[in-house]
Amino acid sequence: MFWDVPGDWREVQISIDHHLSVYAGRSGVLVEAAGAIAGKIDSLESVLDNLCERTCPDCREPCCVRATVRYDFRDLVFLHFLWKGLPVGQPSAVAGKACSCLGDKGCVIPRMVRPFMCTWYLCPAQMALVRAAEAGSEAFLVGWLREIQECRKALERGFLQIVSPYGK
Ligand code: SF4
Ligand code: SF4
Repeated sequence: MFWDVPGDWREVQISIDHHLSVYAGRSGVLVEAAGAIAGKIDSLESVLDNLCERTCPDCREPCCVRATVRYDFRDLVFLHFLWKGLPVGQPSAVAGKACSCLGDKGCVIPRMVRPFMCTWYLCPAQMALVRAAEAGSEAFLVGWLREIQECRKALERGFLQIVSPYGK
């Protein structure tokens, strides 16, 4: 996995920070784009919480115990543009153990700064509820998550473009 070693983690943050400070003059639109993504994630909080309340308490195989979750480059670009603080490192990667960010009452990281994979993933029990929803936020959830994913890809492309020697 990537950036599991603390030194590698620090290095990638410093590198992104450096590029953002050097190309700050070109990145205003991307700061706005990151803010828009944050707004979209925020707007899903209640529908995701509601799904969790209806499924997680009775879950026999919690995903945060089974899954190996990492921040990817797209997450880091988003978080650097968002300026809400950075995680101190990757969630722990020890196979067979619960995610190191899992606390007694669920994830200890605010949703906005979690790996997006954790927001994107809807388990089978939650997907069943979403598929059964005929109206309301749940019925549109998958589409909204896809939209956020596309915005994240665009943000990453924008970042790579401004730091590229061929970017404008
Ligand atoms: S999201 Fe699904 S798999 Fe994960 S803990 Fe909740 S019910 Fe279980
Ligand atoms: S970061 Fe949080 S939501 Fe994601 S797997 Fe770990 S505990 Fe679960």
